[in-house]
Amino acid sequence: MKLTKINKSYGDKRVLKDVSLDFPAGKITVMVGPSGSGKSTILRSLNLLVTPESGKFDFNNHHIDFSNGVSNKEKLAVRRETGMVFQDYNLFPHKTVLGNVIEGPTQVLKMTSKEAQQRAKELLTKVGMGDYSDAYPNELSGGQAQRVAIARALAMKPQYVLLDEPTSALDPELELSVLKVLLQLAKEKQSMVIVTHNMAFAKQVANKIIFVEDGEIIYDGVPEEFFSSNNPNERIKNFIASMT
Ligand code: ATP
Ligand code: MG
Repeated sequence: MKLTKINKSYGDKRVLKDVSLDFPAGKITVMVGPSGSGKSTILRSLNLLVTPESGKFDFNNHHIDFSNGVSNKEKLAVRRETGMVFQDYNLFPHKTVLGNVIEGPTQVLKMTSKEAQQRAKELLTKVGMGDYSDAYPNELSGGQAQRVAIARALAMKPQYVLLDEPTSALDPELELSVLKVLLQLAKEKQSMVIVTHNMAFAKQVANKIIFVEDGEIIYDGVPEEFFSSNNPNERIKNFIASMT
């Protein structure tokens, strides 16, 4: 999955400036950077929730030149191959946990209800929520709701899972329960792109790390170097120090 020279503005504010990035398959790419730097905008460009004004996007057989616009058909096709997990989970409040997880597979992938339920139960077990099939979202803690949201994303069998600060709404203990699930997925080589403020987690899980500031890519490399005290970039060293 690759972005080439994408640009995005809101009004006369340029929020992404010629951003080029590669998100390798089977790897965990982590994006960090100050608030308002453009991390969510980049992440949302990957499933076309945001459409940049120019630049290119290459993903499997999708080759999009944003200057020519993007059709709804192409947006839907890309979204089927990417699962998005938001900070505030976005579960359907009137559906049970199981109902939330089978919604996409039955409606979009046209799985039979039986097949979708079986798979949903496997995924809920995997995220430690196997006993909560019949619960409603308002009966769950934030950490539980987020794990259901991850199971729901995985139920669509996406090639990439995109996570925007998946734990920033959670207390540390609940955060840990979600991070454990993500570490497990990382072991299984699930392709992921994660935006996080948790530097310890970034260091532990990232195969590749990106530092975004003011709509530009300041660093694109490996965590060993990024977090090393030998990192020559003072700005990055100060940022890491301020976050830990
Ligand atoms: P945070 O860490 O706070 O989530 P971020 O790095 O994810 O920040 P973005 O949400 O990508 O930052 O925002 C980048 C810039 O674009 C910010 O200046 C923001 O105010 C602006 N922006 C984002 N979305 C919109 C929008 N829909 N309309 C106008 N401006 C927007
Ligand atoms: Mg954001």
